[in-house]
This record gives sequence, structure tokens and C-alpha cells, in this order.
Amino acid sequence: MSEQYADLHLHTRHSDGDASVEELLAEVAKTDLAAIAITDHDSFEGIDIAHALNTRSDLKIISGVELSTAYKGKDVHMLGYFFDHHYPEFVEYCQRFRDEREQRAVKMVQKLNDLGAKIAVDRVYEIADGGAIGRPHVAQTMVEAGFVKNLQSAFDKYISNDGPAYVPKYKIDPVAAIDLIHRAGGVAVMAHPGIVRDDSIVAHLAKNGLDGLEVHHPNHMLMRCEEFYAGLADKYGLLHTGGSDWHGARKPDIWIGKAKVSMERVQKLEEAASRYQQV
Ligand code: AMP
Ligand code: ZN
Ligand code: FE
Ligand code: FE
Repeated sequence: MSEQYADLHLHTRHSDGDASVEELLAEVAKTDLAAIAITDHDSFEGIDIAHALNTRSDLKIISGVELSTAYKGKDVHMLGYFFDHHYPEFVEYCQRFRDEREQRAVKMVQKLNDLGAKIAVDRVYEIADGGAIGRPHVAQTMVEAGFVKNLQSAFDKYISNDGPAYVPKYKIDPVAAIDLIHRAGGVAVMAHPGIVRDDSIVAHLAKNGLDGLEVHHPNHMLMRCEEFYAGLADKYGLLHTGGSDWHGARKPDIWIGKAKVSMERVQKLEEAASRYQQV
């Protein structure tokens, strides 16, 4: 049998992707992936829906999440896998994050209004449709209102990290995120280190419980640094993961399976998680 692969980084409309879980599964069906993880920002809502909709015994659906953390002023995204997505502390934590995102949207809209881009926060909420609200929803509201021609120019002109209407997200320390994922019985993986570009953070987190590094990611393919991060993961004894960071049509140059990881690696992740599940 040829080698099997998993895409462990997918977003749905339960955060800032624009596809429903049903649409995601329809896209997955066009691939030969053996496993997927839905890793919405601060939300587990897609996971149970995916389990309920999945009719294929040959497709493994792994619980996943992507948490926003910050270390030394840098954004660090922490992926969690194989945790119990009904673990109460973790569920409450995600709810708190989503509430904070709502407040942040109010502040960003206020700044945009002050800058002359009159959009309504209620429209942002409508577009987010109950999912964890992010900047892509604000950007889409701006496109719809005619203030910018596309999502990218909303970022470039207003809401990129150094833009005039940017408001930082509520974030926790990455080690606190790692500990929380472990308590819920999962493994913690630092997302796209090639975007963070500070390998001292990888070293720090590896000493503090990090289990894996997202070696395979479309940005790493572009920057030709997958081999570098594979080497860094090995240096610190971290497991390798990978995924496309698919957001549906919101990121049109990304397709499911664009970046992926072998099922052998997934097996190692699952074994590592089982060690946190023994209480
Ligand atoms: P948030 O979680 O609300 O901070 O939004 C993060 C999302 O915005 C991610 O999906 C990013 O892909 C997208 N994003 C952040 N910065 C930019 C940028 N400069 N250009 C385009 N998209 C961006
Ligand atoms: Zn996202
Ligand atoms: Fe990310
Ligand atoms: Fe992501």
C-alpha cells in the first residue's frame, strides 16, 4: 500500500474559514487523505459535527484546535491534537477566548469608523455567523461595504499587525497553552515556526513541554524551509506534523492536502497523547 497522509491544519466557518464542516468533508473526499484534524481558532464546535457527518471508516478525524499565544511580543500559534474536546476547563477557556474576540471586533470597528470606514459591528457578527470572530470577518465586511477592493487590501491598509485599525487579540503564554492541552489529554504543537521566525522560542517551548513542530506548512514550502524545521524538530526531540492551514475560499491558493504529514508521524503523535491521558 502506498504511503498514507494526513492534513492536520484545517479551518471551518466555526472560526475564520468560510466552509461548513459538510463542505470541508466534501473537499476531503476528493483527496486520498487518511486523516484530518479540524483546527479552528478557539473553537471545538466543528469536531462533533465532523464525527456525526463522517460516513467513511477509512477517514480518521482527530480533535484539533489552534490557540493564540504570545511570547516576547511575538504571536505564537499553538496547535492541540487528540485532546478531549469536552474537557470542561478547555471548553470554558475557548468560550472566554471567543468572548474576547467579540470585544476586540467592537474595538476594531470603532477604530475603522474613526478612520472613516463606516462599517457596523453587527454585520461583522453576521458574517462570522456564530464562529470565533477574526480579522478576515472584519475584512470581508469592509469589502462588502466598498471601502476596499479585496480582503488583502483590508489587511494592507487597515488591519495588518501594524495597520491603523489593528487591535491585538487576547493571548495567553504559550507554556500555559501547552499545559492546558496536556491536562485535556492532548499533544501541543507549535504552528508554522517559519512565520514566527524566532528559533529561540522553539528552544524555550521544547524545554517546557512542547511535543511537536509543524514542519510541513504552505508558507514553509514557499520559503523552502521544511527541511530546516525538520532538522530543528529532530534537534529538540519534537514530533513532526503538517497541514495546509486551509481556510476555504478565503485563502484561494491553499487546497486541502497542500501540506500534509505521513500517518506514521500521526501514529507517533497519538502515542504521545496517550501518555497525557493516563490519570
Ligand atoms: P485574527 O485571528 O483575528 O488575528 O486573524 C488572523 C487571520 O488573519 C489569519 O487567518 C491570517 O491568515 C489573517 N491575516 C493576518 N494578517 C494578515 C495579513 N497581513 N494579510 C492577510 N491575511 C492576514
Ligand atoms: Zn485562521
Ligand atoms: Fe496560525
Ligand atoms: Fe491556522
